Amino acid sequence: MRWLCLLAAMSVAACGQGEDVSAVAPGNINAVKIASVNGRGSCGIRDAWLVSEVAGIRLSRPTRLSREAMVALDRWVSQGAIPAVGSVGGGLESMTVAAGYACRTRNSRPGGRLSEHARGNAIDISAFRLRDGTRLTVLDDWNSRNRDVMRRLWRSACGPFGTVLGPNADAHHRDHFHFDVAEYRSGSYCR
Ligand SMILES: [Zn+2]
Repeated sequence: MRWLCLLAAMSVAACGQGEDVSAVAPGNINAVKIASVNGRGSCGIRDAWLVSEVAGIRLSRPTRLSREAMVALDRWVSQGAIPAVGSVGGGLESMTVAAGYACRTRNSRPGGRLSEHARGNAIDISAFRLRDGTRLTVLDDWNSRNRDVMRRLWRSACGPFGTVLGPNADAHHRDHFHFDVAEYRSGSYCR
């Protein structure tokens, strides 16, 4: 536990109080350290955080993520998503989380490989809310007049995340972006 407290450099919460210790994560991340998530079989999150905001951008609901995924999300939002939206609609305000932790296989196919969602290493984003109230959804805006913004958002995640999937990947992703921190030998996989 101690090393987590050290890593959480901006921590204002008490550290070293055992399993229930909660801490504010580094940087602009608004998150609380939670107990390890133990799911069926190989499902679960060892270094689990309940994330509600990154880089000043609110998530539609607090989302359970691994530390690695949380840090990647913060990096993408601060260095990718916010600049990708720029001043369009007054700027990015919040994001709709379609999925966080879930003990399931990839695309929920029976007998398939375990999804990165099952380890807290993935997050699905389905919509972006701008400050003027505009709501951009992956489903409706991937090919709308807002397509440039949507494609910048999608492309900018490639790097912070190891795997980035959107409507061009397959029918499963026509209504959301999938981001995870799985690493491929050849680098990021983005489609
Ligand atoms: Zn996903």
